[in-house]
Amino acid sequence: MLATRLSPSRASDFKQCPQLYKFRVVDKLPEPPSRAMLQGTIVHHILEKLFELAPDQRTLETAISRIEDAIAAHEEELRSLPEVADSESESDADLVRSQVADFVREMLEAYFVLEDPSLIEPVARELRLHGDLNGASVVGVIDRLEQDFEGAYVVSDYKTGKAPPANYQEKAFFGLRVYAALLEASDDFGAAPKRLRLIYLKSREILEMDIDQGHLRGTKSQMAAISKAIETAIELDNWPPSPGKLCDWCYFKPICPAFQS
Ligand code: SF4
Repeated sequence: MLATRLSPSRASDFKQCPQLYKFRVVDKLPEPPSRAMLQGTIVHHILEKLFELAPDQRTLETAISRIEDAIAAHEEELRSLPEVADSESESDADLVRSQVADFVREMLEAYFVLEDPSLIEPVARELRLHGDLNGASVVGVIDRLEQDFEGAYVVSDYKTGKAPPANYQEKAFFGLRVYAALLEASDDFGAAPKRLRLIYLKSREILEMDIDQGHLRGTKSQMAAISKAIETAIELDNWPPSPGKLCDWCYFKPICPAFQS
């Protein structure tokens, strides 16, 4: 088996813990859906669709009016959440639906504090990219791509969590730096963006980073090195666990070799 189509998320998994990568990508072990993931998907869905409207129709009221339909469109995922699937009471599903709606509404209100979507004209939304970065086959999805007043590309990414503390912010841009390198490598765009933006809705903050050729070179080398390390791990079937603080949130902890006595 060869390491194929590496995304920034899976590259981060491997960097964090090769055993985690093996559970997810090589063994393809399923993980239960999480409410955080579902809520994030619904917020992204509403914001993406908002930009299909004429600028003067992109209002908070319109966005909020779409919450119910957006949740209904994700009913299957909602029903597979453990707190719904494990319950025999329909009122538990109603409660989760209502809590998800409240969360999504809070995120949309935060979004309109941070940006005025009537002033933004995206070049692309949910843009899927695939490219070769120094020999590594890499994929990524950009939430929103626009151009600034000078025509330079700007990549924006919505996050439904809080912005990380200052000493983790550089790391938080890893995925967007990969998207920037993919944009530069793409036949359709062929130019790297000038700026990367992380829009943290929970803490109502936007983090920005200007990107240059040095960043791009470093990112391409990093993805190539991770891809190579994964190929070596596959050849040797060597997936050392790397225990750390995040293990308490790892679904695979009960079967992880690092925690077997
Ligand atoms: S429990 Fe920790 S060491 Fe084990 S796979 Fe998960 S992240 Fe890795």
